[in-house]
Amino acid sequence: MSDDLNFTVQRPPAYGELTDVLPGLFWVRLPMPAAPNHVNCWLLDDGPGWTMVDCGLNTDDSFEMWDKLWRGLLRSRPLQNLALTHAHADHSGLAAYFVKETKCAVRMPLTEWLNAWKTWHEREDGPDEQFVSFLKRNGASDDDAARIVEAQRQPTFLGSRPPREFTRIRDGEVISMGRREWKVFTAGGHSVEHALFFCESDRILIAGDQILSHMTPSVIAPPAQPGANPMQDYLDSLTRLEGLPPDTLVLPSHGLPFQGLHARLAQLREHHLSRLEDVASIVNGRTNAFLIAQEIFPRVLYANPRQAFGEALAHLNMLASSGRLTRDVGGDGAIAFAPA
Ligand SMILES: [Zn+2]
Ligand SMILES: [Zn+2]
Repeated sequence: MSDDLNFTVQRPPAYGELTDVLPGLFWVRLPMPAAPNHVNCWLLDDGPGWTMVDCGLNTDDSFEMWDKLWRGLLRSRPLQNLALTHAHADHSGLAAYFVKETKCAVRMPLTEWLNAWKTWHEREDGPDEQFVSFLKRNGASDDDAARIVEAQRQPTFLGSRPPREFTRIRDGEVISMGRREWKVFTAGGHSVEHALFFCESDRILIAGDQILSHMTPSVIAPPAQPGANPMQDYLDSLTRLEGLPPDTLVLPSHGLPFQGLHARLAQLREHHLSRLEDVASIVNGRTNAFLIAQEIFPRVLYANPRQAFGEALAHLNMLASSGRLTRDVGGDGAIAFAPA
C-alpha cells in the first residue's frame, strides 16, 4: 500500500525525543495507551519562543515526557502559542495544562473548541437519554443498549477541561508559526472543522488526522447528527487537497512524515469507495446501523459504540444520499435502510 509513498524516515523516533524534521521544525512522538498507540506533535521555532501544534493525551506518560523536554532542551525559551488541529483528546488533551503553566495562546477552529466542551460535558455527565435513544433508534435492543451504556461508564476519557479562551482560526486564513507562513484549511469528515496547515514556500502540510500515512482516518456520523453525511465531507476534503503540490511533505498526526500526497489521497479515496461497496453488498433487505456495525465492527461494537455506530451510519448515509439505499425514519423514530 505504501510503495507510492516516500517516507523521510523508515522508523519513528523514540517517544518523547525532540527530532529535527526541517530547519526550525521538530517532531515529538508521544505514546498512547490504545491504538494507534502514539500521536505526533510538532514544535516550531518562533525565535523568542515556541509554537506547538497539538499536545497529546492527558496521561502520566505524555505529561512526564513534556515535562522533561520543557525543563531540558526547550527550557531557554517559552511556549508562546499552541495550535490545535481538532478537539480529539489525543490532540488537545493537555491543552488546558499548557495554558495554565505557560500562559500560551491557543488557536483552533471555533467548531473544534465547541466540540471539545461538548465532549467534556458529556463525559462529566455520563451517557444520557439521547445517547440511549440514538442506539435504540439505530437498531440496538434494550439489552444491547444497556450493555453499551455500561461499557461507556468506564473512565476512558484522557482529555482535560478545554481551554476557556482561544483565538479562532478560519479556512483560508494565513497564520505565522515558527517563522513560516501557513495557510489554514479546515475540513470535515473526521472531525467537523479539522484544521490543516500548509506552508506554500516550503511545501509542508501539517495534516492532523485528515491524512494519515498508515491508517485510514475514522469517519463518523455523531449521535447528535444521526442523519449527517460526513463521508461526503471527507471525500470533498480529499478533492480540495489534490490542489496542493505533489511534492508536499506531509506531517500526519499518526504514522510517519512522507512525500506522495497525491498517491495517499488516491489510496484514501479508494479505501472509502471500496468500503462503501462492501457495505452496499451486505444490505440485502431492510437493515439498520446496529446490524451493519455488528457485521463490520463486531470487536468494537460494545467498547467503542460511537465508532461502530458512527462509521456504519457514515457509510449508510452516504449510500442513501447517493441513491443506492433508501433511508426512512419510522413513527417511533427508528432509522432503517434498504436497497433502493
Ligand atoms: Zn482525530
Ligand atoms: Zn488522532
